[in-house]
Amino acid sequence: MQLQHERISENVYWFQSEIYAQVTAGVVTGPQWAAIIDTLATPEETLEMRTYIEEQLNVPVHYIINTHSHADHAWGNCFFPGATLIAHALCRKLFEEKGQSALELARQQNPIFKQVKLVLPHLTFTQGQLSLRIGKKNLILLPTPGHSHDSISVLVEEDRILFAGDAFLPLPYFVDGDIDQLASSIKNIGKMGLENIVQGHGDIILRGEIEDAVKENLAYLSALRKAVRNALRRKNPIEFLNSVDIESCKKSRVALGGLAAELHKRNLAALYKKMAASPESQSEDTPDSNDRTI
Ligand SMILES: [Zn+2]
Repeated sequence: MQLQHERISENVYWFQSEIYAQVTAGVVTGPQWAAIIDTLATPEETLEMRTYIEEQLNVPVHYIINTHSHADHAWGNCFFPGATLIAHALCRKLFEEKGQSALELARQQNPIFKQVKLVLPHLTFTQGQLSLRIGKKNLILLPTPGHSHDSISVLVEEDRILFAGDAFLPLPYFVDGDIDQLASSIKNIGKMGLENIVQGHGDIILRGEIEDAVKENLAYLSALRKAVRNALRRKNPIEFLNSVDIESCKKSRVALGGLAAELHKRNLAALYKKMAASPESQSEDTPDSNDRTI
């Protein structure tokens, strides 16, 4: 099995992609069936994860939770026929509005996506929390917007394990969402008294590392705001922004398999656009599927 995987706690498992930006997924098993949290980025790895669940954990997948609508978290839904799909209501809306065109574009770029079909969430919520009981575990689904407007996280209550999706990343990324919402989601996550944070990409954050990880991510967002405010005072703001490298914002460019530097640039561009227009305006860019994004 190529896919990295690990048992985090009794009946709770984690998978990490070897192919795409260290994207992650989770599984919680009960005596008769399992729920998965996200579906990985490529059919090959999704099917590997499914085989592992069915043959090693000996249970079928009855529920899929999408933390958000991005392709690398949700395009494997179709490989679990019969499973009930749960997500934020906005996730379903984004699938309806942008899903098919993004999939068609991806198919032109890469034939592996020919076998992918979009499956829209069956069960959605907009605010508050949703609980799903699986054997001895209670999963609590809660909105954690910012990376995208439809982002949710999943708490395994008994173990204090949070599958954060892209609300918590080695490099906070908000081009499809909102920096202020992301900052408050990160702060809230820091107050949950967690044992583990399973990031949407990258490695698991252990209890002793959580405080520093939260501080570092919030410091990064503050550094971005400061840099853009500075840029807005300059005669040539874009030139200044191009000089704001990721290290000056207290993050490393090697994060996310080296993708961090590119994502950092996009964060700066999105924030500049928002702050130049007005604090209320938000960018609505549609990600171009042949660009590597998360
Ligand atoms: Zn994402």
